[in-house]
Amino acid sequence: MTPSAMIFDIERYATDDGPGIRSVVFFKGCNLRCSWCQNPESHLSYPQIMYNRKQCTSCGRCMAACPVDAIHNDELFGFITDPDKCIQCGACVDVCYTNARKIVGRRMLLDEIMEELKKDTDYYKDSGGGVTFSGGEPLLQADAVSELAQKCKNEGFHTALETAGYLPWQTFELILPLIDLLYFDLKHIDSDIHRSFTGVPIELILDNIRLAGELQENMVVRIPVIPGFNDSLDIQRRMMKYLSEETAVTQVELLPFHRFGSGKYDGLGIPYAMKDVENLSKSDCEQFAEIGRQLGLNVK
Ligand code: SF4
Ligand code: SF4
Repeated sequence: MTPSAMIFDIERYATDDGPGIRSVVFFKGCNLRCSWCQNPESHLSYPQIMYNRKQCTSCGRCMAACPVDAIHNDELFGFITDPDKCIQCGACVDVCYTNARKIVGRRMLLDEIMEELKKDTDYYKDSGGGVTFSGGEPLLQADAVSELAQKCKNEGFHTALETAGYLPWQTFELILPLIDLLYFDLKHIDSDIHRSFTGVPIELILDNIRLAGELQENMVVRIPVIPGFNDSLDIQRRMMKYLSEETAVTQVELLPFHRFGSGKYDGLGIPYAMKDVENLSKSDCEQFAEIGRQLGLNVK
């Protein structure tokens, strides 16, 4: 089979996910369901219809064109699509004259992805940038990530990987030798609470952070600070203590909660649990950063 990957975006000129100017490859499919996720279109491992109600005139042409009755006019969300029924034929996108519908996610050949990435070779070289693999959970497509990372190395590109880490350790052993910078999420320290907000327990993730910390010289643990979930001194102290005392990790980045993804939930017809939660700023997280610094971590 020709090597390929299910991708929902390739962002060019990115500056937040590694050094310099980068291209970020977003892999579609995730094995967590974090309540605050900013990329709900990344959850399913196949293409989906994204709908923009603001552009919709309620003409109903999409409903009429759908061969499998996957679209209904929802009082709350508008003309949304049932992903379980949709066969991704694109007929509703074609008939929508206001461009209120688009297909998110497509299978791309790895060579096709590399052609996109190579367009910005000069930017990577001039800025000390490179390529970041993100998602979703990119390591659910570990073979594709590994092959792409090898191709990037062959081109001399710096490589970074973002992971939520809920995978067998063997997956990391395959990938890490090809990764220059690893971003590893840590969300909570209590397994039951972690499971209730993300769908999975924490133990495997903690083990993988510890093991990755021993292997990966350049590793940053990213902690999203989420109101009502982990924004307490006690929880933050326990996470920082784990990193400081049980792992070789020294670099930590706090990511304040933001409702960036709320419009996407509407477009997919999914209720957004965090829609009324206030955004946080970096300064709101400073007290947590200070705890980490006192434990010897370099927290940003
Ligand atoms: S075809 Fe487009 S404008 Fe018409 S109802 Fe469907 S989404 Fe709205
Ligand atoms: S892509 Fe095809 S199957 Fe899916 S909602 Fe649109 S018309 Fe229906």
